[in-house]
Amino acid sequence: RAAALAAFKAEMDGIRVHDDEKTLELRSRDYFWYSPILNEQLEDCRGELVVIPTSQEEVFRVASAAARHRLPVTIRGGGTGNYGQCVPLDGGVILDMTRLDKVIEITPGHVRVEAGARISRLDDAVHETGQELLMYPSTRTLATIGGFIAGGSGGIGSFRNGMLRDNDNVTYARIVTVEPEPQIIELHGEAINKIQHAYGTNGILVEVGLGLTPATEWVHVAALFDGYDAALDFATGVQDQGLDLYLLTCVERRFSAYYRKLKDHFPADRDAVFAMVAPADLSRFRAEVENGGGTVTFALTKEEIHQQGLQPAYELGWNHTTLQALKIDKGWTYLQVAYPHPFDPALVLRQMQRHGDELFWHHEMAREQGRVQIFALPLVRYRGKDEMYALIRELEADGCTIFDPHVYTIEDGGMKTIDDTQIAFKKQADPYGLMNPGKTRGWTPEMALAE
Ligand code: FAD
Repeated sequence: RAAALAAFKAEMDGIRVHDDEKTLELRSRDYFWYSPILNEQLEDCRGELVVIPTSQEEVFRVASAAARHRLPVTIRGGGTGNYGQCVPLDGGVILDMTRLDKVIEITPGHVRVEAGARISRLDDAVHETGQELLMYPSTRTLATIGGFIAGGSGGIGSFRNGMLRDNDNVTYARIVTVEPEPQIIELHGEAINKIQHAYGTNGILVEVGLGLTPATEWVHVAALFDGYDAALDFATGVQDQGLDLYLLTCVERRFSAYYRKLKDHFPADRDAVFAMVAPADLSRFRAEVENGGGTVTFALTKEEIHQQGLQPAYELGWNHTTLQALKIDKGWTYLQVAYPHPFDPALVLRQMQRHGDELFWHHEMAREQGRVQIFALPLVRYRGKDEMYALIRELEADGCTIFDPHVYTIEDGGMKTIDDTQIAFKKQADPYGLMNPGKTRGWTPEMALAE
């Protein structure tokens, strides 16, 4: 390995390379520490060399050298994944994509961008043309667009525009293969699913195309209700009112201790709904809140939110909720739960009753292939691995699907089964099995191309 690394490094002339302990440690981690189970398994994993290309031509050189020297390659975007997606299990090269970040072309309804661009920078560029992204994770400041496509699923905006996999949200992907003579493969339409959520195991995404929508000056709204049942009833009922909402999230009152910046806007004796509402629909939204027995405590533009030292609504839901809690109480971890159709709020109330102080709840409304899908990302008091899996079985017995955030393979987490199309594509894009080894159960060493 040492000789291969030295030979690889010697070929990186003109490309930034790091192999000092501190950099290797930092770039070998992501947010897996949300899970005590993953933390134990992954905290000591280290890459052996970080390489930071700035152009697609340099990515070619990295891919070629890694293939010829048979070195594992773990791609890294912003490093904000939660499941150790960009933690190298077998050392080797960490390919940092964050300098491959050019916004190539913005046209009405579409953007082409290099995969290492940070999402917030991309969204800023798109806003300058009066448009906005269809969705983003709450980690938008650090996360890259390539990392979102290869490691994420959806997020803020998904209530309005669906998940990443839904039609035309991602329109184009340009991939570099890891071979002595790397190839470019271009994917369009449904074929993009070959690399989506594949954890960088089957090709280096260097460029992507994304759908855009005209920009809206979203109003960030907090509404309070006297009971989580009332908050849930409102959030499920308001979906049928034809209002234009980018985000819709219910957060129960026990979270107020972790949302200190919100002060009286989220007191400990009320349950909250946070939303991003189109200005034209704000008065109707307010009226619906009042009909549901609630009160709007703020309705502000993003700029006003910052001026008042509050937090934007997109940092009050999805997995940012876990982050807020963990900053104050390290005893928490979490789960990802999808509810069966049709959604029954009574099930949530039974779960809240059953799990008492062991679980705190919030619910995220999204659309998947056009229909509303409700997710929860409850905080879970960590009692040990056996207890975690007993809890998962209980929630599954309720009819819920669990996307397990305590495992690092694609299949054990969200996907459940081996995606044969992704594995077939891996044979083409990573014939030596060098990319992010250990992250897919669909690949075994015998499948690698013979020497
Ligand atoms: P990384 O963590 O760097 O990488 C993710 C995976 O993609 C890795 O397997 C990596 O190898 C691979 N990869 C990265 N770049 C490339 C590339 N160019 N080519 C091929 N493979 C590549 N996720 C959501 O989907 N929705 C959310 O709402 C959400 N909220 C979050 C909130 C918090 C507080 C945290 C900590 C995480 C959240 N996440 C969410 C998870 C994560 O932040 C996002 O999925 C994010 O978009 C990942 O981007 P990244 O650049 O940080 O990817």
